[in-house]
Amino acid sequence: MAIKVLKFGGTSVADSTAMRKVFEIISSNREDKQIVVLSACAGITDKLLKLSETALSQDNEYLQILEKIENHHLKLIVELFRDSEKSASCIKSVNFLLQSLKKLIEGVKILEEITPKIKAEILSYGELLSTNIFYQYVLSRGLNSFLLDSREIIETDNYHLNAKPNFEKIQQNGEKLKKLLQNYPIVITQGFIGNWKKETTVLGRGGSDLSASLFGYSVNADEILIWTDVDGIMTTDPRLVPNAKVIEKITVDEVAELSFFGAKVLHPDTIKPALAKNIPVKVLNTFNPNGIGTTIYQNNGITFESKVSSMLLIEDCFYLRRQVTKDSRDFSYYLNLLKSNFEKLFKFSFNDNTILAIVKSPKGSDTLNLLEQEEFLNQKVDAIALFGLNIPNIDKEEKSKLDYITDRISEFLESKLFFVVSDYSAILLLQPNKGKEVIEFVHSILFD
Ligand code: ADP
Ligand code: ASP
Ligand code: MG
Repeated sequence: MAIKVLKFGGTSVADSTAMRKVFEIISSNREDKQIVVLSACAGITDKLLKLSETALSQDNEYLQILEKIENHHLKLIVELFRDSEKSASCIKSVNFLLQSLKKLIEGVKILEEITPKIKAEILSYGELLSTNIFYQYVLSRGLNSFLLDSREIIETDNYHLNAKPNFEKIQQNGEKLKKLLQNYPIVITQGFIGNWKKETTVLGRGGSDLSASLFGYSVNADEILIWTDVDGIMTTDPRLVPNAKVIEKITVDEVAELSFFGAKVLHPDTIKPALAKNIPVKVLNTFNPNGIGTTIYQNNGITFESKVSSMLLIEDCFYLRRQVTKDSRDFSYYLNLLKSNFEKLFKFSFNDNTILAIVKSPKGSDTLNLLEQEEFLNQKVDAIALFGLNIPNIDKEEKSKLDYITDRISEFLESKLFFVVSDYSAILLLQPNKGKEVIEFVHSILFD
């Protein structure tokens, strides 16, 4: 029997309608052993974060947030279970979790201190709640399954809020999981949560994708399916361009680049553990389960066409330039300056005595003053990032499309140049706040 890992993201477990869809997907597959990895219900991790941030304040805002979290899950239970006895037992276990969450917050208030360890513990409740409810729902629908605490498998380092996996231990723990799968066709577990020496850790925001990959890694799964709320990895964010198309096959390098530039679709580094073991990874839509989805593969240097495969709008960037003379500071000084003052450094190059950089999200309020002091010219820009294989050697037909785009939108452009960023990406700079106006046009030329 094949082992499959199925990961369902926040919107796929957001409410009772979504959870029923997840159940249909799982129950329609009786041939495979299934490890079902769930995120917290959409919006709950944000609320837990807020809860941990307000826990130290004097007012009682935390009680209102707790109430919202409680109401969300109780409503979910009432809608899912028609049988009042089953819903009562589910409410009991959920109340138990909510009580321990409340005790944690009250502990923070008494101690007047919140450590990363406690914060991670608080954040873990979203996944603990969603998996607990879904497990009981699956049982109530007559499917044999086991609820596994992900901390038994996913061991990490001690960076509690952004923990890195301990691959060796995870591989060893995979044996336990394989044994469980001999007795149960379905194992339900949490994404996002791990442990370091029995202390709860979390893998960073959006970390459930990584969890799925790690579970797959631990048991040498046959396939990993990332179920989300869009039809796969698409030519651009379909929320921005409704005409976006599904990319049937994409290389892991392009996906990593997309994630690095900020596309929300997959957590960076997510799929690497799986691909290292040649486990195929697919992205599918919970709300359109018969769609073809996207297969992610490792291209291992095989020859390829050089075309743009996807694009991303990045708003509120800065385009920086600085003349560098012989007596200027060392080039690496400026690189470090930008790296430590911005969340993202998309491009940094040096040509004709000019440093050129494209950055996003200043880390501090005086970063822009600092740039002025350091004599950088800075312009606010929107950017469209283009992704594909072998971007520096884009083929002729594609190049002429790009030229056509720059001609047509020249009044929106900050610079006529496409800045090649890496083998997999290039950036087109637009005047600030113009991105949304042109993205559909650029998309239509490249993909329609
Ligand atoms: P999940 O909760 O399932 O983990 P996420 O919200 O993390 O889902 O990621 C899915 C979202 O990523 C989509 O709803 C979509 O708006 C966004 N997205 C951004 N860029 C892309 C893209 N190129 N292809 C598909 N989705 C994208
Ligand atoms: N619930 C976590 C988050 O919202 C992890 C995830 O959904 O992937 O970041
Ligand atoms: Mg996600």
